[in-house]
Amino acid sequence: FLFLFFLSCTSSKIITSEKNTTRIDFKVDSLLRIMTLEEKIGQMNQYNGFWDVTGPSPKFGQQAIKYSNLKKGLVGAVLNVKGVKEVKALQKIAVEETRLHIPLLFGFDVIHGYKTISPIPLAEASSWDMEAIKKSASIAAEEASSVGINWTFAPMVDVSRDARWGRVMEGSGEDPYLGSKIAIARIKGFQGDDLSSIRSIAACAKHFAGYAFAESGRDYNSVDVSESTLQNIILPPFKACVEADIKTFMNSFNDLNGTPATGSKYLQRTILKEGWNFKGFVVSDWGSINEMISHGFAKDSKQAAEIAISAGSDMDMESYSYVNNLASLVKEGKVKETTIDDAVKRILKVKFELGLFENPYKYCDEYREKTTLGKAEFQEAVLDIAKKSIVLLKNESNLLPLKRTGLKIALIGPLASDKTSPLGSWRIGADDNTAVSVLEGMQQYQGNQLQYAKGADLTIGPTSFVRELHINTNDTSQFQDAIALAKNSDVVVAVLGEHGLQTGEGRSRTDLGLPGVQQELLEELFKVNKKIILVLNNGRPLALPWAAENIPTILEAWHLGTQSGNAIAQVLYGDYNPSGKLPMTFPRSVGQVPIYYNYKNTGRPIMNEPESVFWSHYIDQEKTPLYPFGFGLSYSKFEYSDIKLSSNILPRNSFITVSINVKNTSSIKGKEVVQLYLRDDIGSITRPVKELKGFEMIELNPGEKKTVTFIIDEKLLKFYNSNGKWEAESGDFKIFIGGNSVDTLESNFKLE
Ligand code: BGC
Repeated sequence: FLFLFFLSCTSSKIITSEKNTTRIDFKVDSLLRIMTLEEKIGQMNQYNGFWDVTGPSPKFGQQAIKYSNLKKGLVGAVLNVKGVKEVKALQKIAVEETRLHIPLLFGFDVIHGYKTISPIPLAEASSWDMEAIKKSASIAAEEASSVGINWTFAPMVDVSRDARWGRVMEGSGEDPYLGSKIAIARIKGFQGDDLSSIRSIAACAKHFAGYAFAESGRDYNSVDVSESTLQNIILPPFKACVEADIKTFMNSFNDLNGTPATGSKYLQRTILKEGWNFKGFVVSDWGSINEMISHGFAKDSKQAAEIAISAGSDMDMESYSYVNNLASLVKEGKVKETTIDDAVKRILKVKFELGLFENPYKYCDEYREKTTLGKAEFQEAVLDIAKKSIVLLKNESNLLPLKRTGLKIALIGPLASDKTSPLGSWRIGADDNTAVSVLEGMQQYQGNQLQYAKGADLTIGPTSFVRELHINTNDTSQFQDAIALAKNSDVVVAVLGEHGLQTGEGRSRTDLGLPGVQQELLEELFKVNKKIILVLNNGRPLALPWAAENIPTILEAWHLGTQSGNAIAQVLYGDYNPSGKLPMTFPRSVGQVPIYYNYKNTGRPIMNEPESVFWSHYIDQEKTPLYPFGFGLSYSKFEYSDIKLSSNILPRNSFITVSINVKNTSSIKGKEVVQLYLRDDIGSITRPVKELKGFEMIELNPGEKKTVTFIIDEKLLKFYNSNGKWEAESGDFKIFIGGNSVDTLESNFKLE
């Protein structure tokens, strides 16, 4: 009976949502029928929101949204307008003064929080905790929606293998499987179960596609990848976004194999809209339509508009290219009006789904705005995800967890008292100086007994989102005090790393070490006190071979957001037992980059003898990573044993299970992410040495043992093969299970 009841509930839900879609499609069609060409094109424009009615004048070269344009219905969406007052004023013009009363979309980069800031996305990915990640996105949506925003330009789902690229902070790291799961969690968080709820905002999968594969890790650079890398590595998280019913996509600045993504019919029409049946709309990246001129792909803005719309870019962000050129392109017969209609339908559909036609002011409630931002429960939730994002990389001599009494602790480092940098990059809704610093966090435990010395400044002069940062590369005048303090202390906690704005868009680096004088400072401290706990604050994998070799304890704490210092202190003092695992490989040096766990074997895998020069290696450094993908320690110790398969033969259309025992052999309760990797031994194209295909987080009491079981079916084995198809190829497979991508137990099976 219960089963029937459940069935009837779900099927009636499906029928209701189908009815809804049909009803919305009908409304969209009816509206489209009465729109002029000019009004249609208006919907396809998104302007930056420095508008000329009540707001300030345009900044850094952007035009303002002209009142006259708005009134004529020539604007479909705006970005960077925040606050109920401003949103309401603009919405009022769109809804009350235009002929068709079509409401505006308000887009914003709500990347890891709006006012209450969560860890940067790469840090959150280290939690491998989908519920916590979903919660973080839902808080961001709740805050953003309370200030009038109804559309976020997130999640960024670019699989990234190159730590030089500044935007790795904004994604989920190097793995397509983990990246897909996280993308789904974020979409659920942003869009909720019901997009028309006032807490939900539309999400946007970006950057479609290939952006993270910029040559030499330099942002915006050309991308040249094989079809196999595109299909097997880059695209899966995007496809997962479509399956999770994401409403919008953003294309990207880069050219991909010779075609700018914004002008790529293959990406936007063949793959996304036709192949995956995506029904939402594609927005260009900022000015990326006109950037096709610099790419040498369009001779002027008019040709760029023609290329972009034909390729399937539905909305123009900040190129003014559609509003200036589409009408004449239609009149000249170069662009069909049906192509415009398709784009406009997609945009209107999202507006209907958001419930904006029913209530255009639904996100414009000043009371809600006042009572939502920074709520205490949000602080708790971002503290929770911040703790879960920390990765313990090394804990020799068991310096951690710290004793609360009887220890003289020296806190040192330019980032230890910083209240801005931990907010990371891409947090334009939040104010500077709003993060809890490590100093403040540790003071909660240690009070005035905690001694602090900065040691050095990390940056010189003003820091801002749009300016280049200036790093202190020679001023060591504050070293002395720090060294003296270290000498007189039992333990040193050194908080070093990158400034929040050394990562993010346009922040590529050629060096992956500690910026400025920090490495020198660390080595000076080490000379007087070997008991150092290095707490890293950074937005990308760093190459720190000296620290890995010499410093006994290393905690990767990323840029953790508003509650950063509290989260770090809880881990340092053992109130939280670290459980994070790296979502991206840490290299030994820049020379190893790109380095990732799911690489392919060369033709010389067995000649791994250092005596021979003819094996695939470097003559000046090991080829292995400093810390591998999936790696992370705990204050507990886990032991893996007894890998067992239900059968060594996997018939097609069936499944087998693989189980493993994990035991907590320590006296501390802890969490472990058990990871499943597979290898397809022989393929019609060469296959990665292993690929993540499952993971499960378990919690174990001291001495407790659990069995973790994974299901393996044909679907899990599919890849884009030499036939250009997603297929599982018969043959032998290896299974690896462990607490990271390297230390694993192994078994094997055959797909028949
Ligand atoms: C970035 C996008 C972002 C957009 C709007 C662009 O420069 O590449 O990721 O969403 O600006 O701010």
